[in-house]
Amino acid sequence: MNEAMKMTDFGADVFGAEAIKEYLPKDTARKLQGTIEKGEPLDASIAGEVAHAMKHWAMDRGATHYTHWFLPMTGSTAEKHDSFLEIKNGEPIMAFSGKNLIVGEPDASSFPSGGIRSTFEARGYTAWDPTSPAFIKRHGNGATLCIPTAFCAYTGEALDKKTPLLRSMQALEKSVKRLMKLFDLPDAHAGCTLGAEQEYFLVAKKYWEKRPDLVMTGRTLFGAASAKGQQLEDHYFGTIPVNVLDFMNDVERALWKLGIPAKTRHNEVAPAQFELAPQFEELNLASDHNMIVMDTLKSVAEKHNLKCLLHEKPYAGVNGSGKHNNWSVSYGGRNLLDPGSNPQENAIFLTVLCAVIEAVDKHADLLRAAVAGAGNDHRLGANEAPPAVISIYLGDQLAQVVDMIEKGVTGETKEAGVLKVGVDTLPPLPRDATDRNRTSPFAFTGNKFEFRAPGSSVCCSGPMTVLNTIVAESVERIAEELEKSGTAGKAKKGEHTVAFHAALQEILQKSLAAHKRVVFNGNGYEALWLEEAKRRGLPNFPDTPGALAALTKKENAALFEKYGVMTKRELKSRHEIFLEEYDKKIHIEGACARDIAAGMIAPAVKAEYLETAKAYEAANAVGVSSGIAALRESLVELGAGLDALKTGVQKLDEALALSDNAAILAAMQALRTTADSLERKVADSRWPLPKYREMLFLY
Ligand code: ADP
Ligand code: MG
Repeated sequence: MNEAMKMTDFGADVFGAEAIKEYLPKDTARKLQGTIEKGEPLDASIAGEVAHAMKHWAMDRGATHYTHWFLPMTGSTAEKHDSFLEIKNGEPIMAFSGKNLIVGEPDASSFPSGGIRSTFEARGYTAWDPTSPAFIKRHGNGATLCIPTAFCAYTGEALDKKTPLLRSMQALEKSVKRLMKLFDLPDAHAGCTLGAEQEYFLVAKKYWEKRPDLVMTGRTLFGAASAKGQQLEDHYFGTIPVNVLDFMNDVERALWKLGIPAKTRHNEVAPAQFELAPQFEELNLASDHNMIVMDTLKSVAEKHNLKCLLHEKPYAGVNGSGKHNNWSVSYGGRNLLDPGSNPQENAIFLTVLCAVIEAVDKHADLLRAAVAGAGNDHRLGANEAPPAVISIYLGDQLAQVVDMIEKGVTGETKEAGVLKVGVDTLPPLPRDATDRNRTSPFAFTGNKFEFRAPGSSVCCSGPMTVLNTIVAESVERIAEELEKSGTAGKAKKGEHTVAFHAALQEILQKSLAAHKRVVFNGNGYEALWLEEAKRRGLPNFPDTPGALAALTKKENAALFEKYGVMTKRELKSRHEIFLEEYDKKIHIEGACARDIAAGMIAPAVKAEYLETAKAYEAANAVGVSSGIAALRESLVELGAGLDALKTGVQKLDEALALSDNAAILAAMQALRTTADSLERKVADSRWPLPKYREMLFLY
């Protein structure tokens, strides 16, 4: 039974502003809030007091254990629990020190490190991230205090997904501050925001259990299309099935308690596919929250006899799942991608917009690399939106504005129809919900960019780290040019000089001329676009190994190093980890496909063959001629199928032995084609795997 969700539950299990006020002395509370809100360095002397308060707060909520919660390179979250219990002078006490809060020393030897962690030094360190609040994780009969942390080697090199994200945010803040100063704005905090829309599939647990492919790989490696798929377009935004709504309610209640603002829920395009979207938050927090959202979806599904599939492509022939990363930059609380309502706000908006266009064009390869993975290869570059070519959708209105800036002339006179940055007021840009281009990988949607290429299973921090870093670079470059122009810093009462406007105009004009090729407002599905993209010189990497090569380029290593986001070694280690992960996943898929084909499908086909042969013999024995032809034909078909399965399994075995990914994928596909056609020739009662029509419609 559902108890009602209550407003007062929101954030009840988070050591946030309210808990801080209640459990900490005023002075300490103020210092801690300064770190959380303004990113001020943490005053180490308050750690003891904060730990003490946190322990009491957590124990009041039933917690007996604490854990440093971190994001290793596996792509999921990690936790090692310790109890508060300590025996002192023979007496049990509950203890939690400042040191316990600030650092942990989990054994790092079993986490991927890509060569960073040397074998003789297995220790890793977790370091408290005070900008993401501690929370309580509830589980059946207990509760654990979770402390979000960064995870690094004893050398200080990052072994996780959070550390580079935090560094990239710092880099972007530095660049944005430098630019805002030139617009004569007072010093303020520059931050980024993220709203991550999470797509997922639900499948009945009873079917999932009978699908080794779903259990092992997260996607179906076999399965003929069901008669009905998504062709009637009746699922998207349709009435949410009652049991799914119950599930969603339970998910949301859990998320609300953790202060995660789950806001929107709806049916997605494919049958059995759904979406959860939270309200956007500060980037690091939103990224952590998305990890908790994924965990919560999975754990709550169990209680509803469901399984939540976060794989990018659980089913062939219907849409896959993505994770739209809605991203923006703010300064002093104002969203810089909001076009604004006066010339100065407009000018800032257009400057940041141009910086993003420049960054995306210059570093499309890095953005592509950041979303690469075995699962996402079935979306990007595989006849599904978005394509693997990174381009920007601006919408007609904004594209026109950008066009006008690019064509504009510098000088003091205003020609008809030519927009001068910072002089003219932008025409109002309607946030047109009907004119959404769903095929673009990187779309401007009114007051933010929506990066749609990330797959449903990934941690947001990877793509966001790249985006922050490349925008930090372009913002800095524009700021530098503006500084060189010698026109900045001379505004009077917020009014900039004509020379400043002219300089800005020229900088943006040049940037757009060089980078507008990345802007594409058409249909990204069309094959014509791929040709056009090629003509424009935009990179296209349809698969993971090709995409990841961007991480090995010297200039990219230099970029990350320059902005203090990753050292050369850290980047190299990531390249190794991602490639290895890809190899392993493909190998697991191949081995799993072979096992299913040889151990489940072939025996079912043999049984069908035997039964058909018996019927054929029986018909012959009694001398009946009707049915003989059909039985004979079936026998030939089933026999041919068996032969094809046999050679298919052999081919796959060979490819697996060679560890040749492309060959493994091709052999798996060939085997699948054989098996899927046999699925229609074998008695339904005999087929060993739950079918698409069951998994996609009966949940
Ligand atoms: P959609 O039609 O794509 O669902 P929404 O307007 O509902 O568009 O927004 C999708 C996501 O974008 C939500 O998570 C929302 O909170 C987030 N979002 C809105 N404004 C911003 C912003 N300034 N920065 C980051 N994310 C934002
Ligand atoms: Mg969206």
